[in-house]
Amino acid sequence: MANKRDYYEVLGVDKNASEADLKKAYRKLAKQYHPDVNPDDKVAEAKFKEVNEAYEVLSDSQKRARYDQFGHAGTDPNGFGGGYQGGFGDFDFGGIGDIFETFFGGSGFGGGRSGRNKNGPQKGADLKYAMEISFEEAAFGVEREISINRLENCVTCGGSGAKAGTTPATCKHCGGSGQVQYKQNTPFGQFVNIKTCDVCHGEGKIITDPCNTCSGKGKVKKSVKIKINVPAGIDDGQTISLRGEGEPGSKGGPNGDLYISIRVRTHTIFQRQGNDVLCDIPITFVQAALGSELEVPTLDGKVKYTIPEGTQTGSVFRLRGKGIPYLRGNGRGDQYVKVVVEVPKKLSESQKALLREFSELSGEDTHEQRKGFFDKMKDAFGM
Ligand SMILES: [Zn+2]
Ligand SMILES: [Zn+2]
Repeated sequence: MANKRDYYEVLGVDKNASEADLKKAYRKLAKQYHPDVNPDDKVAEAKFKEVNEAYEVLSDSQKRARYDQFGHAGTDPNGFGGGYQGGFGDFDFGGIGDIFETFFGGSGFGGGRSGRNKNGPQKGADLKYAMEISFEEAAFGVEREISINRLENCVTCGGSGAKAGTTPATCKHCGGSGQVQYKQNTPFGQFVNIKTCDVCHGEGKIITDPCNTCSGKGKVKKSVKIKINVPAGIDDGQTISLRGEGEPGSKGGPNGDLYISIRVRTHTIFQRQGNDVLCDIPITFVQAALGSELEVPTLDGKVKYTIPEGTQTGSVFRLRGKGIPYLRGNGRGDQYVKVVVEVPKKLSESQKALLREFSELSGEDTHEQRKGFFDKMKDAFGM
């Protein structure tokens, strides 16, 4: 497990690759390393497996999200129940001519194994939605109502697609199985293959009298409102999955899922690092020298913090428990505040005079670091 290559690297795509990019990269590599093209070549076989495994994970938006978040551990079947299980081993290849048809023809591949037999139950399509939230909403969670357009089962015909009072006729071409056999000649010999029936498109039935509402499709596009509970602690790039909120399945198959990808807007003052919040706070050199009570912005509002005399620029202090709540579990991260001493620019003549006086009064004793630095310089260069 530990020495597995990064899936994106395996497919030679970058992390933002679209589904189409992935498919294209996969198709190319699968052809290149296919065992039928490289008989008895162990290296090619290993590559082929690696490519398949990478594509199996990255082509599934849910698995891909887990992989992006947790790496290979996120797709470990022992870790998450139902990750990659070596699925390709039991995939029954026909001849090579057929493989790419089976894989890439129409909707067959994207839907996974259940998509092969159009006559069986099919899971509905997954939907994606991008949601932008503020820094504070990410920290404390927010409830949002979104509108999505998705297919829903047609109420008029109950999803059958046939007009009320009529029933679809059994397809004569395939006898209702939705599939027909055909012979195919390939460089490796003749193969008998099964393909989806062209007449009924795999449905096994033909609607003679289509429902008026859905034109026989059995499904209609509807705008639906869905409440999304964005949990406290969510981070930019994470995904919320809502099982069964995708499009309806066919023939008793489950609904698809809805994936909400979260984009967190940047904050003008705060930055996030894991569950900690970072910010810079500018102070005057007088405050730094004499010490001061500061008003520090936090996610919970302003808090008072006293910096001691002689605070140096770049000093960082921590406000315990003022960070982002942990997504799962209790507690919060911390806030780290970096003090930045600002050197004044537009000084009046009298201010300058005071500073010159100040400088004359201060020996090197008041500037330990500077004194130390010049001592070191003397040692090193004899200057
Ligand atoms: Zn209908
Ligand atoms: Zn048919």
